[in-house]
Amino acid sequence: MSMNKLDQLYRTVIMEHSKRPKNKGVLDANNVTVDMNNPTCGDVIHLTMRVEDDIVQEAKFEGEGCSISMASASMMTDLVKGKTIDEALRYAEAFSNMMLGEEVDDSIDFEDVEALAGVAKFPARIKCATLAWKAMEKGLGENN
Ligand code: ZN
Repeated sequence: MSMNKLDQLYRTVIMEHSKRPKNKGVLDANNVTVDMNNPTCGDVIHLTMRVEDDIVQEAKFEGEGCSISMASASMMTDLVKGKTIDEALRYAEAFSNMMLGEEVDDSIDFEDVEALAGVAKFPARIKCATLAWKAMEKGLGENN
Protein backbone atom coordinates (compact mmCIF):
# COMPACT_ATOMS: atom_id res chain seq x y z
CA MET A 1 0.00 0.00 0.00
CA SER A 2 1.29 3.50 -0.77
CA MET A 3 2.05 5.81 2.14
CA ASN A 4 -0.81 8.13 1.14
CA LYS A 5 -3.34 5.31 1.18
CA LEU A 6 -1.97 4.13 4.51
CA ASP A 7 -2.22 7.65 5.99
CA GLN A 8 -5.79 7.85 4.74
CA LEU A 9 -6.65 4.51 6.29
CA TYR A 10 -5.08 5.50 9.60
CA ARG A 11 -6.98 8.79 9.60
CA THR A 12 -10.22 6.90 9.06
CA VAL A 13 -9.47 4.54 11.95
CA ILE A 14 -8.72 7.49 14.27
CA MET A 15 -11.92 9.32 13.23
CA GLU A 16 -14.00 6.18 13.79
CA HIS A 17 -12.65 5.73 17.31
CA SER A 18 -13.10 9.40 18.22
CA LYS A 19 -16.64 9.61 16.82
CA ARG A 20 -17.80 6.31 18.27
CA PRO A 21 -15.45 5.58 21.16
CA LYS A 22 -15.42 2.09 22.60
CA ASN A 23 -15.63 1.46 26.33
CA LYS A 24 -17.08 4.86 27.14
CA GLY A 25 -18.40 5.19 30.67
CA VAL A 26 -17.52 4.48 34.27
CA LEU A 27 -17.16 0.97 35.68
CA ASP A 28 -19.11 0.62 38.91
CA ALA A 29 -17.16 -2.44 40.04
CA ASN A 30 -13.73 -0.94 39.53
CA ASN A 31 -10.62 -1.27 41.66
CA VAL A 32 -8.42 1.08 39.66
CA THR A 33 -9.35 4.74 39.12
CA VAL A 34 -7.11 7.32 37.50
CA ASP A 35 -7.74 10.93 36.57
CA MET A 36 -5.27 12.60 34.29
CA ASN A 37 -5.12 15.62 32.07
CA ASN A 38 -3.02 17.11 29.34
CA PRO A 39 -2.98 20.86 30.06
CA THR A 40 -1.30 21.78 26.76
CA CYS A 41 -4.41 20.68 24.84
CA GLY A 42 -7.10 20.52 27.53
CA ASP A 43 -7.66 16.76 27.25
CA VAL A 44 -9.01 15.07 30.37
CA ILE A 45 -9.56 11.40 31.11
CA HIS A 46 -11.21 9.49 33.93
CA LEU A 47 -10.15 5.87 33.60
CA THR A 48 -11.68 2.99 35.56
CA MET A 49 -10.51 -0.62 35.40
CA ARG A 50 -11.37 -3.86 37.11
CA VAL A 51 -8.29 -5.97 37.75
CA GLU A 52 -8.70 -9.50 39.02
CA ASP A 53 -6.31 -12.46 39.11
CA ASP A 54 -3.58 -10.18 37.75
CA ILE A 55 -5.65 -9.56 34.59
CA VAL A 56 -7.37 -6.40 33.38
CA GLN A 57 -10.92 -7.74 33.13
CA GLU A 58 -12.60 -4.49 32.09
CA ALA A 59 -11.64 -0.92 31.27
CA LYS A 60 -13.77 2.14 30.61
CA PHE A 61 -13.10 5.81 30.23
CA GLU A 62 -14.85 9.14 30.41
CA GLY A 63 -13.27 12.25 29.11
CA GLU A 64 -13.14 15.21 26.85
CA GLY A 65 -10.56 16.37 24.44
CA CYS A 66 -9.29 16.35 20.91
CA SER A 67 -9.96 13.48 18.54
CA ILE A 68 -6.47 12.04 19.00
CA SER A 69 -6.77 11.82 22.79
CA MET A 70 -10.25 10.28 22.65
CA ALA A 71 -9.37 7.83 19.86
CA SER A 72 -6.29 6.78 21.78
CA ALA A 73 -8.34 6.18 24.95
CA SER A 74 -10.85 4.13 22.96
CA MET A 75 -8.08 2.01 21.43
CA MET A 76 -6.17 1.61 24.70
CA THR A 77 -9.19 0.46 26.72
CA ASP A 78 -9.99 -2.05 23.99
CA LEU A 79 -6.47 -3.41 23.76
CA VAL A 80 -5.81 -3.66 27.49
CA LYS A 81 -8.78 -5.93 28.21
CA GLY A 82 -7.74 -9.50 28.95
CA LYS A 83 -4.08 -8.60 29.34
CA THR A 84 -2.05 -9.29 32.46
CA ILE A 85 -0.72 -6.29 34.35
CA ASP A 86 2.80 -6.98 33.09
CA GLU A 87 1.63 -7.26 29.47
CA ALA A 88 -0.42 -4.08 29.75
CA LEU A 89 2.56 -2.18 31.15
CA ARG A 90 4.74 -3.57 28.36
CA TYR A 91 2.23 -2.24 25.81
CA ALA A 92 2.26 1.16 27.52
CA GLU A 93 6.04 1.22 27.21
CA ALA A 94 5.88 0.14 23.57
CA PHE A 95 3.40 2.93 22.90
CA SER A 96 5.79 5.50 24.41
CA ASN A 97 8.53 4.11 22.17
CA MET A 98 6.30 4.36 19.11
CA MET A 99 5.64 8.04 19.97
CA LEU A 100 9.40 8.58 20.09
CA GLY A 101 9.52 7.19 16.57
CA GLU A 102 11.33 4.06 17.73
CA GLU A 103 10.89 0.54 16.42
CA VAL A 104 8.29 -1.52 18.26
CA ASP A 105 9.09 -5.04 19.41
CA ASP A 106 7.73 -7.79 17.10
CA SER A 107 5.89 -9.41 20.00
CA ILE A 108 3.67 -6.32 20.29
CA ASP A 109 0.42 -6.57 18.35
CA PHE A 110 -1.02 -3.07 18.32
CA GLU A 111 -3.96 -3.69 15.95
CA ASP A 112 -5.87 -0.37 15.56
CA VAL A 113 -3.36 1.42 17.80
CA GLU A 114 -0.94 1.29 14.86
CA ALA A 115 -3.03 4.09 13.33
CA LEU A 116 -1.55 6.50 15.89
CA ALA A 117 2.05 5.88 14.81
CA GLY A 118 1.96 8.98 12.60
CA VAL A 119 1.40 11.21 15.65
CA ALA A 120 5.12 10.79 16.39
CA LYS A 121 5.71 13.28 13.55
CA PHE A 122 3.73 15.96 15.41
CA PRO A 123 5.47 16.59 18.75
CA ALA A 124 2.71 18.96 19.95
CA ARG A 125 0.16 16.12 19.74
CA ILE A 126 2.18 13.34 21.36
CA LYS A 127 0.84 14.17 24.83
CA CYS A 128 -2.70 13.86 23.45
CA ALA A 129 -1.97 10.35 22.22
CA THR A 130 -0.10 9.18 25.33
CA LEU A 131 -2.60 10.53 27.91
CA ALA A 132 -4.73 7.37 28.18
CA TRP A 133 -1.64 5.12 28.19
CA LYS A 134 0.01 7.14 30.96
CA ALA A 135 -3.22 6.87 32.96
CA MET A 136 -3.29 3.09 32.48
CA GLU A 137 0.40 2.84 33.38
CA LYS A 138 -0.14 4.88 36.54
CA GLY A 139 -3.18 2.85 37.61
CA LEU A 140 -1.61 -0.54 37.05
CA GLY A 141 1.77 0.50 38.39
CA GLU A 142 0.15 1.46 41.67
CA ASN A 143 -1.78 -1.77 41.67
CA ASN A 144 1.38 -3.87 41.43
ZN1 ZN B 1 -5.31 16.77 22.59
